[in-house]
Parts: sequence; C-alpha cells; structure tokens
Amino acid sequence: MEIYIAHTQGFCAGVASAIEVVEKALAKYGTPLYVYHDIVHNTSVVNDFKSRGVIFVEDLADVPAGKRIIFSAHGIPPAVLSEAKKRNLQFIDATCPLVTKVHDEAIHFSDKEIQTILIGHKGHQEMVGTSGYVAPALLHIVEDEDDIEELDIDPAQSVGYLTQTTLSVTDTQKIIDKLKQKFPKLIAPPRKDICYATENRQEAVRDLAKLCDMIIICGSPHSSNSNRLRETGEQHGVESFIIDTADEFELSLLNGHKRIGISSGASVPRYLVDELVAKIKSKYPEAKIHTSESPEANIVFRLPPI
Ligand code: SF4
Repeated sequence: MEIYIAHTQGFCAGVASAIEVVEKALAKYGTPLYVYHDIVHNTSVVNDFKSRGVIFVEDLADVPAGKRIIFSAHGIPPAVLSEAKKRNLQFIDATCPLVTKVHDEAIHFSDKEIQTILIGHKGHQEMVGTSGYVAPALLHIVEDEDDIEELDIDPAQSVGYLTQTTLSVTDTQKIIDKLKQKFPKLIAPPRKDICYATENRQEAVRDLAKLCDMIIICGSPHSSNSNRLRETGEQHGVESFIIDTADEFELSLLNGHKRIGISSGASVPRYLVDELVAKIKSKYPEAKIHTSESPEANIVFRLPPI
C-alpha cells in the first residue's frame, strides 16, 4: 500500500487568517462572540469554536445590539454591513482579500453599467455576498452551461463576467467559452477570480490522479472547493471520495486498491488528514507515505484590526 499526500492542500491564506481572527478575538474579548455564517466551511473548525462559546448566526437579528460579530471569510453583501452599523454591532471583517477583490470588480462593472454575469453556485455564501455588490438590474447568475440559454441580455450592451473564487478551473473555462460564443465582446475581470489556492489544490489532485487508483478528499459536504477536488479526481478517471472526518471512511473501500491519494480542501485542518492516514495505517501498517513540499508556505494575508 502506498499513500500519496497531495503537495498542496489544507488551509489557504484566507482561511488561516479568518480562523486567526476568531482566535485572537476570543483571546482578547472572550464570549459572547458572534460569527456571521460559518467562519469557514468546515464542520470540525466550526464545532471547535462552538465548544468554546462562539455563537454562529445566519441573521444579524439574532445578535443583541452592541455585541461583537465577525464576518466570515466568504464575504457579506453591503446590506449586511449597513445593518450591522445600524444595530451598532462591533464588527470585525474576516472576508478573504481575494473575495474583496471580486467585490471591487463587481462595483467597477456596475459603475460602468456592464451587465454582469456572475458564475458560481446559487445560494453559496460567497455568491450572496458578491451579488450584493452588483446593481440588481445588471446581475445575472450562471451556475452551469444550461443557464446560458436562459440569459436575457441584449448583446449590444456591454457584458462582463466574474466568478466565485472556488470553482473548478476546467468547468468554469467551458462556461466562459460558451458565454463568449453568445457575447463575443465579453469582458473578463482584470485578474482571474478563481483564487491561487483553488487552482493549486486542483492541480495537486490532477498530479495525484496520475499516480493513484483511489483519491480521498478531506472536506465538508458544503465546502465548494473540497467538492471540486473530488470532482477533479473523478474527471481524471480515479475513484474519488469526500469525507468530513476519518470516522466516515470505510476501510473496506480500500480493498483491491494499492495507491491511495489524499488531499484536503482549503478549509480543512491538517489533523483531519493525519487522522485519516493513521486509520489507513491501522489496517496497513506497512503502508509507505509519500509527501512533497507545498509551494504556498510563504503566502500569508494581513489580519484586519481586532
Ligand atoms: S479559497 Fe481562495 S478566496 Fe477562499 S478564502 Fe482561500 S484564498 Fe481566499
């Protein structure tokens, strides 16, 4: 049995910062401390904070006036920010700077009256946030190629696109290519919106797919980037699973497999991968572990004032 650990996986700089913001705020202010939406899309991370008294809310109405709230890494629409100010909440914004970049592009497009096609998963927190920065009359959401048929935009108007940061690079390019057929002068964002972390993790899974006959992704079911990793493995012909914790993984699935690739989404703590490896080693103590260096070690984002 050979176990290959993806060279790039786990916490990205945006997630690491958001988690550090909550840790520092907890240490400085204690509880009650509120977080708007899951700070990052990982069940273990959220449950750990809950066990230490952090309260997660989906509605600012659940936060008493004047209390302290942290906005998650996925970003918020401007209406939520206005509401927080109106309710005199003390807020800390842990939005990833790469999501804020997309917000700024959305504002720029709307200022120029560019019809804005937002590519991403309807209802995902990041999409909810970014949608709020696009003028309602200019906003169009496309989740897949089928949605393009439904777009009702005069091709004589300026049309641009932006994307969620955690999409599949390959699938998104197909959508963009199809959009270009419909809108030949389609305006791209100044810099691509799918972030470095998403791209690097998908590339690492493609590398695993060349070596492995099974891929296991550690990640929560509601984590966009983790699900895209599982799909990347499948798209490259390798049976791929996603698990929230090692407990969920049935060791019998390994029967008949000899080269197991393991990766994790951008919101997944390393200990979850280590627990999965330990579980596999409990059945295959002779399993050889292959690791390699991540190119991301030096990427860190500045924290907001806390
Ligand atoms: S996945 Fe990308 S956009 Fe999302 S928090 Fe991480 S670095 Fe930021």
